Amino acid sequence: MTGDFALHSNPIPYITSSLFDSYGIKHLFATKAGGVSAGVFESLNFAAGRDENIDSIENIVKNHDIAASVLGFAAGDVCRTRQGHTDNIEIVNNTHKGTGIEKPPFPKDADGLITKDTGVLLSVRSADCVPVLLYDIKTHTAGAVHSGWLGTKKDIAGKAVELFQSLGSDPKDIIAALGPCIKECCYEVGREFYDYFPDHADAFSEREGKIYFSLTAVILENLVKHGILSQNMDICPLCTCCESSLFFSHRRQGNKRGTMAAFIAVKD
Ligand SMILES: [Zn+2]
Repeated sequence: MTGDFALHSNPIPYITSSLFDSYGIKHLFATKAGGVSAGVFESLNFAAGRDENIDSIENIVKNHDIAASVLGFAAGDVCRTRQGHTDNIEIVNNTHKGTGIEKPPFPKDADGLITKDTGVLLSVRSADCVPVLLYDIKTHTAGAVHSGWLGTKKDIAGKAVELFQSLGSDPKDIIAALGPCIKECCYEVGREFYDYFPDHADAFSEREGKIYFSLTAVILENLVKHGILSQNMDICPLCTCCESSLFFSHRRQGNKRGTMAAFIAVKD
């Protein structure tokens, strides 16, 4: 396991996993910078927002275009999840390009996407939850999942590995990158989390009577349980809540915030 990620600055700020880069995998974790949105959404926002804070569709499409173009794609190539903290995963193909952008969203919630097709750019959104990217370097299968505490409790990342296997993958050929998310420095949780995650004692720490939780520790343990090799996993060390100049954070900002996105595609 490594924590080797690169922060790029050109043409916009974005983050890549050095492990994925070493295999030439087209992927990125966006920061909050480099887009066209304003106000609480400034500037690379990928979601509409809620309550009185709503960003325009035009801005969101333009921001997808900006991020997709870094990888040689356009907004119309992006397939977006319809996130609801589920463990539902859609296996998609080229006909799903534009889902949630130029085409209607999926008819039901799907917090993960998997494809074997080139040309479709998978995208998950987050602002503290963990964006998990997966890639089978032998069968050239790409996956992206959104794993907040509920998705992590349901082991959506492990379910993605099982789906990869149903498509012919051997887990030892799958590499995984866990992107920027809230870390145990900031993620205070209630005591009930001990009941939610009974098999993950090492994901907890207590300081001054408060309980802190590591989502990435649980996801890593679940991926290992599903046969992913530890040297094939990369965890971004940056905390979305701490790094206010780089990231939106739900814990830090509540609903007055934008939402980031991560992207991955199958190699040409
Ligand atoms: Zn933090």
